[in-house]
Amino acid sequence: MVDRHVVVEELLAAGAPVSAHWFAERQIGPSLLRNGTEAQRRKFLPPIAAGDCYFAVGMSEPDSGSDLASVRTRAVPCIGGWTVDGAKIWTTGAAIAHYVLTLCRSSLSESGTPHEGLSQLIIPIDSPGVTVKPIASMASEPELNEIMFDNVLVPVEGLVGREGDGWKQVMMELADERGGPERYLSMFGVLRELGYAASDTGSTEPTRVLGSAVSRLWSVRALGYTHLLRPAGSSKERAVVAALVKDVGTSYERQLLEDARVALAPTDSGLRSAPALRSAIRHSPAVTLRGGATEVLRDIMWRETTTGNVEWQIK
Ligand SMILES: Cc1cc2nc3c(=O)[nH]c(=O)nc-3n(C[C@H](O)[C@H](O)[C@H](O)COP(=O)(O)OP(=O)(O)OC[C@H]3O[C@@H](n4cnc5c(N)ncnc54)[C@H](O)[C@@H]3O)c2cc1C
Repeated sequence: MVDRHVVVEELLAAGAPVSAHWFAERQIGPSLLRNGTEAQRRKFLPPIAAGDCYFAVGMSEPDSGSDLASVRTRAVPCIGGWTVDGAKIWTTGAAIAHYVLTLCRSSLSESGTPHEGLSQLIIPIDSPGVTVKPIASMASEPELNEIMFDNVLVPVEGLVGREGDGWKQVMMELADERGGPERYLSMFGVLRELGYAASDTGSTEPTRVLGSAVSRLWSVRALGYTHLLRPAGSSKERAVVAALVKDVGTSYERQLLEDARVALAPTDSGLRSAPALRSAIRHSPAVTLRGGATEVLRDIMWRETTTGNVEWQIK
């Protein structure tokens, strides 16, 4: 994971096109290493590592976003596997993905807690009964999708981990998603544009904003490495530090955009010569929602630390 972090930092800082395969190598690959069968690892890990196999993450549903445990997509056991019916929404990259790792309700919870009875299935996007419908957004790129599952047959080999363990597994995946460098480097191009403006225009404001942003970035990055270097910590500890990285990282990115917009607008070429900033502004409403809304992350931090599950100390 440390190697991956270093490589991804360089790719993001260089503006490399990484979004097609990043779900696969950031969270699906590690999940298969933790929970997958030997056959699943042999089948999926080499093409994921090569950047040839794209996965989408099928968690959110029309009425189950923050309240993820209420998912209603059903997986009913049948001869040879499962039949899946339901719908997912906001599925990034589903239109180009080869597979969607789908969180389904596979049995009713015996204790009545919705977190039980959930399972994860790998569903090929080209399976009969799967329909992908793009959703238009102000970010303009065709990124978000709705997926409908109509009586989709999933062979038994598609189950990841143990039936009923889906909740525990997705929480670990979300920690991988929330604690990575994407949370504070997805807008690195804006720093570069501030640097150009500072040297080209002679105005002091871009220099001031750049200095302040770089010092904040350095702190968030240190926190990101704290998350990365705690693999021995409990899953709850990892969840709390990952939530903190995402909250602090996305707050930093929101503030960076606002400061950069104000600093660059009055310069001669202004926002016209700042394509990364213009694009980031269109994406910015999403950063505090995707991967878990800020309020929900703060709730996780509050709950786990006040109940004593996690000691509130970042070393
Ligand atoms: C760009 C983008 C990409 C995404 N990609 C994917 C993807 O690939 N796969 C996937 O499964 N999902 C994806 N999502 C969905 C994302 O995970 C959800 O949007 C997110 O979990 C919030 O759920 P929701 O949209 O249903 O909002 P809601 O849960 O309805 O929340 C709406 C608002 O209410 C607040 N709120 C909700 N519950 C509470 C609470 N208990 N306490 C305080 N405030 C609360 C939230 O903070 C939020 O501000 C993506 C979203 C975006 C924007």
